[in-house]
Amino acid sequence: MKSYIENVYNKVVEKDPGQEVFHQAVEEVLESLEPAIEKYPKFKEHAILERIVEPERVILFRVPWLNKDGEVKVNRGFRVQFNSAIGPYKGGLRFHNTVNLGVLKFLGFEQTFKNGLTGLPMGGGKGGSDFDPHGKTDAEVRNFCHNYMTELYKHVGQFTDVPAGDIGVGAREIGYLYGMYRKITNKHGTCVLTGKGPTYGGSLIRPEATGYGTVYFVQEMLKTKNENLKDKKVCISGSGNVAQFAAEKSNQLGAKVIAMSDSSGWVHDPDGIDQEKLEWIMELKNVRRGRIKEFAEEFKGVEYHTDKSPWYLPCDIAMPCATQNEVDAKEAKALVDNGVIALGEGANMPLTPDAIEIVQEANVLYAPGKAANAGGVSVSGLEMAQNSMRYFWTREEVDQKLHQIMVSIHKTAYDTAELFGEKGNYVLGANIAGFLKVANAMVAQGYIS
Ligand code: NDP
Repeated sequence: MKSYIENVYNKVVEKDPGQEVFHQAVEEVLESLEPAIEKYPKFKEHAILERIVEPERVILFRVPWLNKDGEVKVNRGFRVQFNSAIGPYKGGLRFHNTVNLGVLKFLGFEQTFKNGLTGLPMGGGKGGSDFDPHGKTDAEVRNFCHNYMTELYKHVGQFTDVPAGDIGVGAREIGYLYGMYRKITNKHGTCVLTGKGPTYGGSLIRPEATGYGTVYFVQEMLKTKNENLKDKKVCISGSGNVAQFAAEKSNQLGAKVIAMSDSSGWVHDPDGIDQEKLEWIMELKNVRRGRIKEFAEEFKGVEYHTDKSPWYLPCDIAMPCATQNEVDAKEAKALVDNGVIALGEGANMPLTPDAIEIVQEANVLYAPGKAANAGGVSVSGLEMAQNSMRYFWTREEVDQKLHQIMVSIHKTAYDTAELFGEKGNYVLGANIAGFLKVANAMVAQGYIS
């Protein structure tokens, strides 16, 4: 069986040699699927592995836009429609200068299994551009988003593909994208994007969902050891959407958030980033679009560092919420040596393979992103449901549903790991459970795609 799986993996590498992060994601998933492939021979007969590693469709287009000096610039736009066996493609758009096809294939591949885990009818997709909103004026961002949508609109729709936000795509960008979609198609109310503003069809709790969901998942893991978040020291990386609301929910559950970061450095606040300070950070990042360094300049007793990373700080709970491969083996070792008890991935694939091995060997409660950060896409699914009903649920209703979904994802991953003889291995549990949902649908529908 191992050689069959290795063969599938080797072909992926051979076909697209430059797509290292995609290879990394495929390797991690395929490795843990071995017992499921052995148990159910139908998946090999139906070439499910060979098919599931290949996107159904990739759309690549140019996006010209005008900068503030009146010059025409050109970026690449992408949409990777990875797997629609269980529902319309669903997954965010990332605007960052590191975006390329390999990165989006990794994210779309992960999204396929994540969406399978949520229990909602959503396939996997991802998209974006190598356009970097950092330092751009509002007019430049608006112009780019509008022009990006003049191509993307041909490929999306409530029954086809429903994008959302990701790195560099927040409420502002979704607003501009949605505005242009509505203008071109003369359609309102159909759910073509999620993460919309609440005044034009967005769901309450969608901005909070990924961060809150990650903390709900960590809470469930802690419960298996009769533990909770009260008085726990929490280190968070990033200070964007996911990080902000992971910090907010940690505070609400009685924990103390001692670190946050951005791509320039990180801040250490031994007194804890309480709700008041967090709101200051939200204003800094979401409105003024400043740097985390300013937080240390504003509040007494806060240190700003550009060396090492927050993972060298002693903490009980770590939540990487910035980007892929941001925690390496040395940092994972430092976390373990300093006694971390739980690690929940708010970001997608933030730990390198070596780092994962280290935390797993040390029996740290470790939640992979595809389980821990599935709250965002889950509430996106709830946004789609509300748009279809032409109705909305209250904050409390959506939060309760999000909580139920996260509890259920935790149970599914935990039970599946136990069923396959790997109790406590959330990586194996989440990968197999997400895979079974999608793979069974693919078998049932025949080899049409
Ligand atoms: P944002 O753009 O809102 O925030 C990203 C944060 O990470 C910023 O603080 C940014 O700093 C920092 N960051 C980005 N790249 C790097 C880097 N190379 N090194 C260090 N720091 C970096 O994005 P989100 O919060 O939406 O997304 C964060 C992660 O969560 C991503 O992995 C995303 O895929 C994942 N995710 C997001 C979901 C969502 O609903 N938004 C859903 C599920 C997963 P700076 O401002 O300096 O760039």
